[in-house]
Formats: sequence, C-alpha cells, structure tokens
Amino acid sequence: VSAETWTDFRGNRWKIVTSHRRLKFKYPGHAALRAHVFYRDEFKCLDCGAQGTNIPPEYDGSECLQTNSFLKDGYRDILILDHILTLKAGGRSVIENLQCLCQTCNRKKIRFDVLDAIDYRRSAGLAA
Ligand SMILES: [Zn+2]
Repeated sequence: VSAETWTDFRGNRWKIVTSHRRLKFKYPGHAALRAHVFYRDEFKCLDCGAQGTNIPPEYDGSECLQTNSFLKDGYRDILILDHILTLKAGGRSVIENLQCLCQTCNRKKIRFDVLDAIDYRRSAGLAA
C-alpha cells in the first residue's frame, strides 16, 4: 500500500513513521530518514552551510555525523535531522518535513520556534 510507505533514494521502502515522538536512530526506519535527508541536502547545514565530515561510504543514518565547524565549547558541531515544523507543533517525521541543520542552527531555530509559539498563543488569546 503505497500511502503507508516511502521510498528512499536507494530504492528501499520503509513504513511511514506516524509517531509524534522523537526519532530514534537505532531503528533502521528512523535512520533511513536521516540518511535520505542528509544525502538530499548534501550533508550540509541548510542554514549556515557547515559541511559534514567523515561520512562513511553507504551511510545508513545510524551514526551521528560531525561537521567542519565548531560549537562554542570547542567541540565539533554535528549534523541534526531537524523537523521543519516541530513535532510539538504537529509536524510529522516525513522527508518533506525534515532538513539537515547543524546543531548550532538547530538550537537557534528552536529558540525562534518557542518565540513563535508564544506569539501565536498571545495572538490567539491563549495563556502563554
Ligand atoms: Zn548551521
């Protein structure tokens, strides 16, 4: 049933993830999402352009990847599989809603998402 599966760039079919919980990359179906989106986005943060390094051949999404950029504490930054519309906001774990970001840009985005949510709740007359 095609509506319940998606096909990655290697031609493998996977069950669509319907849970609104965080992805766990020990699950091959979750890791496949990360591999697919990272390949699609060329292992690059779509915001700042930080580039993934040490990408294993036949990368299957199970490993966390470092970038060529650094965090404030001096550690290597990492690539994050980011939900464009957050899980909390109802975003789904489908490739159309996923993008490659570095952790620094992901954290910035989360702050904006929180502020957006506060604005939304205020404008909708909901308690903050
Ligand atoms: Zn970035």
